[in-house]
Amino acid sequence: MVSFLIRKLVPGYKQPQNPEVRRSVGSICGACGIFFNILLFIGKLIMGILTHSIAIVGDALNNLSDAGSSIITMIGFRLAGKAPDADHPFGHGRIEYISGLLVSLLICIMGFELGKSSIEGIIHPTAVDCTIPAVAILIASLLVKTYMMYYNFHWAKIIDSAAMRATAIDSRNDMISTSVVLLAVISTKFTDLPVDAYIGVALAVFILYSGISAARDTIEPLLGTPPSREFLDKIEEIVMSHEPISGIHDVVVHDYGPGRKMISLHAEVSAFQDMFYIHDVIDNIELDLARELDCEAVIHMDPIDTKNKDLMKLQDEARAFAKTIDERITIHDFRMVPGESHTNLIFDMVVPHDITTSEKELVQTVREKMLEKHPHYYCVIKIDRSYV
Ligand SMILES: [Zn+2]
Ligand SMILES: [Zn+2]
Repeated sequence: MVSFLIRKLVPGYKQPQNPEVRRSVGSICGACGIFFNILLFIGKLIMGILTHSIAIVGDALNNLSDAGSSIITMIGFRLAGKAPDADHPFGHGRIEYISGLLVSLLICIMGFELGKSSIEGIIHPTAVDCTIPAVAILIASLLVKTYMMYYNFHWAKIIDSAAMRATAIDSRNDMISTSVVLLAVISTKFTDLPVDAYIGVALAVFILYSGISAARDTIEPLLGTPPSREFLDKIEEIVMSHEPISGIHDVVVHDYGPGRKMISLHAEVSAFQDMFYIHDVIDNIELDLARELDCEAVIHMDPIDTKNKDLMKLQDEARAFAKTIDERITIHDFRMVPGESHTNLIFDMVVPHDITTSEKELVQTVREKMLEKHPHYYCVIKIDRSYV
């Protein structure tokens, strides 16, 4: 039904990167979620009151809170799709992460509430009438939630939405909690033990756990995560496919939400090429990146003194010294400034974040190894921490 609506109402659903399409798909999934949850809430609330089952009423309230979280998701999509304006030139894409965070907080609250009422149920067990209509509505609820989980996962993957993934995880948790409620209601026919309450506690822990991991998924892009390996490989492939470029470094990717990525990088070019020609190449690479990766790119060019064989040899030596500290360390922007008493070798050294050796010590190590071999070369090193 949801996929049918999307195909009918969103003509461009085959271009999921398009912000307009994302917003429409998100809105339809959200609206259907609200409709289903309110239906389930009304049905279970009536049934819960008729059978005196706290568990069924609790399950009904759970669906009501889901309707609330779907409303938040929809507002998030609406705001995230808003065009950039003077106050927010990077657009509003990150609002989607914030609404995803709110949804995961709601999941945590549900887990907490479920735990609380379960413990109360252990202390004060209540008698429940197990009726056919009550069992029927719980089974219907399971089917609806299975479907909701399916379509939310399906479309979350297509439009890459953290908020919809959180909704799908929530639907899965609802299936588990409704199953437990169903078992508890049936068990009242056979035992006086508060089985439902004990299972409820275990369930609460599980729901809390998934709420916390969904929160982590949305907090991380808010703080800024490194781009994926595949994305970096694609950048490198596109840049290096242009013949005058001999290497790249200092890649930085800022992600302001879907469809609004900004890339900057340094491209190494021979110092002996025509400036107009190289600038033209760089401009073309920026256009290629924009077209193929749906981003904005800024490229800084670093001239390489390819004719100076001594410099190349010294660079290789410095690189080898750096790699004795850690294989992942790289160096770039290597240049030489000759002087009376000694010659400065100036370069940047990129060090992974997990290397805890102090920057001073890192510089000292490479500098001393170089001085040992060439007493008149003094290394001036700038330490960079990688953004990727
Ligand atoms: Zn550079
Ligand atoms: Zn330019």
